[in-house]
Parts: sequence; structure tokens; C-alpha cells
Amino acid sequence: CSAHCPVGAIYEKDETKKFLAAVRDESKHVSVQIAPAVRVALGEAFGMEPGTLVTGKIYAALRKLGADSVFDTNFSADLTIMEEGSELVHRIKNGGVLPQITSCCPAWTDYMEKYANDMIPHFSTAKSPMMMQGVMTKTYYADQIKKDAKDIYTVAIMPCTAKKYEITRDDNMWASGEQDMDLVLTTRELARMIKAAGICFDCLEEEDADSPIGEYSGAGTIFGVTGGVMEAAVRTAYKLVTDNELEDMNVHAVRGMAGVRKGVVDFAGTEIKVAVAHGMAHVEEILNEVREAKEKGEEPPYHFIEVMACRGGCIAGGGQPYNTNDTVRAQRVAGLYNDDEKCVTRRSHDNPEIARIYKDFLGAPMSHKSHELLHTKYQERPIYSK
Ligand code: SF4
Repeated sequence: CSAHCPVGAIYEKDETKKFLAAVRDESKHVSVQIAPAVRVALGEAFGMEPGTLVTGKIYAALRKLGADSVFDTNFSADLTIMEEGSELVHRIKNGGVLPQITSCCPAWTDYMEKYANDMIPHFSTAKSPMMMQGVMTKTYYADQIKKDAKDIYTVAIMPCTAKKYEITRDDNMWASGEQDMDLVLTTRELARMIKAAGICFDCLEEEDADSPIGEYSGAGTIFGVTGGVMEAAVRTAYKLVTDNELEDMNVHAVRGMAGVRKGVVDFAGTEIKVAVAHGMAHVEEILNEVREAKEKGEEPPYHFIEVMACRGGCIAGGGQPYNTNDTVRAQRVAGLYNDDEKCVTRRSHDNPEIARIYKDFLGAPMSHKSHELLHTKYQERPIYSK
């Protein structure tokens, strides 16, 4: 950001004017989603402690700013788990390429396509929650409100600057026939808009998200924390593999702040080996283990790997309020685990709106329609491009 660049050559990209133009355009239905990590950090811009859960106030503030519908990326994090968890189980049962590696962090995806593209076959093809929410808004929700996709303007409030790049990363990002996500604003940009509009954030009454793509489980909310995608996937994959529910939903083996964490989860007698890395400095250690096993013709060292580019995961993303340190990280992490504990449902497959969207629209995880709308592809990319 310009505040940190010693010669003032780098400026933070501020796209709030695009949002304000969209809400003034009466021909557009403006639909906004908020990412998991935003709810435990935005309050800091209004003097609250890091980790304070302000989900309901954010929904209310967005409506005051002119949003026509407000959804939650946590819903589509549940959807991602349904697809990614099913993909993992499919790979395990059918001799597919293992380990499967998460792909919902666009900074990591970009790194992999440029510097570690031997890993392309390992990447989950499931789109990130943000992109799934975008395409569901412009297809399923558009049908519900009887609008064309072209008349809906989708906005995502993200903790992340790399998400601004993700919305045009690949031609799969136009799966609805229109650009699925029109605009990404960071937590900081949202804070600026709320202040500029003179909204008293502290005074806002909490509101609910809109339906039918706004309800979320605890598994969806922990996507914002390192190890959270893995934990959410384990909760659902366990059910898919064993047909029973995981007794202790707190998967401690994948929690914590160590740069690399490795563990084994017992799926009723089948050992599932997992690894979590966060902060790009820790990724190659895990990837090299995978490469070495391949070279020696050995079994893959893991079934599933989660990678997040930011230390701590999205709670410490590049679009979050400044002055993030490990104390702040720990407070935001605690905020999301607290949200998880408070949720009525804590497993993605128990989210009733997820069950409904498969019944009414998608059919089943990994169905033809799911593949068309919710999955993507990766390619080797040059390190430098114009
Ligand atoms: Fe963005 Fe960081 Fe989260 Fe990756 S880990 S999606 S770069 S905020």
C-alpha cells in the first residue's frame, strides 16, 4: 500500500467506486457475499478487539450500502467441501492421483501454475468458495428471483488481494454465461465505504443473510483458518467413506500455527494421511516429499494436503486491517473456532440449504452440472506475462 511504499510507487487498488456505481444502477441486482475471515477482522476498523464476531452487523451494513441481497461465502465453503470431499473419496477409491491438494487460495494456485506445475494433476478441480458463490448466484439464485445473469452484479468482500485476480483467472470463471464474480473488495475497502457513508457500525442491529444460498455450517466458517479446509473436509469425507459421523468434530491434528503440520486421521480402520502448510516458505517441504516418493515409486506420503499462502490462513490475508501480528492472528483464529462451536450444524453435509441445492438444482456432488459450474482447470503459466 502507498502508506508502506517508501517511494510512493505502489498504491493499494481501491475499487469501491465500482460498487457505488453498481448500487446506483437501478437495472442491476447487486448481490454481495462475505468471506469467513472478514467477520473476525472488520470490527478492528471500528475499535473492536481482533476476533470479535460481527457477521450480522456486516450483513446489515451491506444492505445500508445498497446491496439487494447479502449472502455468505461460508455457504459455498460448504458447497466446496461437498465437491472437494467427494473428489478426494473418488480418488482414494478409484486409484486416482494422490495426494489431492487444495486449490481455494489463488496466490497458491498462481504459484503452483508458475513454479510447481508438476503438481497440476494433484490439484482439486473444485473452484474456491468465492467462485462457487458467484456462479450459484448467477444461475440458481437468478432463477429464483427471475432475473438474467447479466442483470446481477456480484460482489465479494474478501480478506485477500489475490482474490481480485482470481475472478478472471481462467475461462471457467464465466460458467454462468456472464462473468461469475464482477468485483472483489477487501475488508479494508469495506471499512472505508462504511465510514464514508457515515454508518455507525457499532450501533447496527444484527441481521441474517438472505436465503437460499446464505446459511452455513461451522465447517464453512473455519475455512478462514489454516487447517480449516482440511478439518471441514475430514468431517464430510469421514461420512462419505464410513457412512457414519465423526464423533469428535474438532480435528486437533490439523489445528495450530506450526508452518507444517502432519497427521493421520482414522477413518474407521482406514488411515488417511494429511498435511497442512501455510506461508509459502513451508510449501516446498511437503511438495518435495511427494516428488521423492514418486521418484522412488513409493506410495504417496499423504492423501490430502492443504496449502494457504498467508501465515495463519485467510484471517491474516493481504486485504485485512493492518498491523496483523501473531497475537492478532490468534484472536481472529479463536473468533472463527468460536463461530464454528456456535453453529447449529458443524458439518457441510448437514447444511439444509446444501441438501436443497443438490436436490433442486445440481443433482449430486461431481454430477455433470456440478462439473460444468463448480470445477475448473489449471495450466502451466509463464513466470512473467504482459
Ligand atoms: Fe488470499 Fe491469503 Fe487466503 Fe490465500 S491464504 S486466499 S492469499 S487471504
